[in-house]
Amino acid sequence: MGGRGVDFVPATAETGAPTLKLAMQRSGRLTQDTLDLLHAIGLQFESYGQRLFSHCRNFPLSILYGRDDDIPGYVALGTVDLGIVGRNLIYEENAAVEELLPLGFGYCALVVAVLRDSPIAAPTELSSRRIATSYPNSARRFFDELGGAPDIIELSGSVEVAPSLGLADGVVELTATGSTLLLNDLRSIHTILESEAVLVANPVALADPGRRVNIDRILMRIDAVRAAKRYKYLMMNAPESALPAIRAVVPGLKAPTVVPLADPGWVAVHTAVEEEAFWESIERLRAAGATEILVSSLEKLML
Ligand code: ATP
Ligand code: ZN
Repeated sequence: MGGRGVDFVPATAETGAPTLKLAMQRSGRLTQDTLDLLHAIGLQFESYGQRLFSHCRNFPLSILYGRDDDIPGYVALGTVDLGIVGRNLIYEENAAVEELLPLGFGYCALVVAVLRDSPIAAPTELSSRRIATSYPNSARRFFDELGGAPDIIELSGSVEVAPSLGLADGVVELTATGSTLLLNDLRSIHTILESEAVLVANPVALADPGRRVNIDRILMRIDAVRAAKRYKYLMMNAPESALPAIRAVVPGLKAPTVVPLADPGWVAVHTAVEEEAFWESIERLRAAGATEILVSSLEKLML
């Protein structure tokens, strides 16, 4: 099968236009955001119920729904060309895949935590103790690099209760807000990895020009949707004399668009500002003399 070794399902039809395959989580924390993203980039497909596969009506792409733990392997083996999965799982599986793009959701961190009143202050102090985790490879790799060799106890759930049950001296766990740690009297003493959902690709698929074309189309669309989220579109009226001050606040993507108004000496200014600096920009614009500031969201932004 195209010399790609282990290959359960050919990712490319032997003849005709290559249809890409993408794996995503069937049901879990990443599912809704992933579906939202795929719809936002214009893909039309059915995603209801417990289906295993969807075919896009308007793009050469099939979607495979799976357990998140299996996705790094699917991509590494070439069962699918693309995957959307937490970076933490790529790290856990040590999967030979290429990270193409962080996606801006599913934020969490893999941390080392101990009981709140434990005297342990640093991971090295756990070197020869017991660690409970659902991420045994990540935990082992981390402590290997520290030069320690704790007993790693693999649990598939409720890892956070292991220390209070006396089952372990520490845990290696994912946390998003820290509330689960807090609830279980745990305190993080080290962050192993910052994670978010990422788009990953099989290296062979990336090197195949036929599939690469469509992978690039998907990348371009995701970039446009993500760029649009980073910006707000502003329209405001201002006296012409305020323009230099306004330009200093909002350089715009290139330069703001300035349109003369019927009122002599007045102009309308259109520009995009980064969401992060949004409120500060508005305050400075008002101080510079801008009035009737209108703000709208962007849907797509091609830079
Ligand atoms: P599956 O049934 O697919 O195996 P799961 O229960 O193992 O699902 P989820 O809990 O849905 O997995 O988490 C999926 C991913 O969401 C994680 O791998 C991680 O990247 C991300 N994530 C974000 N916040 C958290 C959190 N607080 N705890 C755990 N994972 C989180
Ligand atoms: Zn899982």
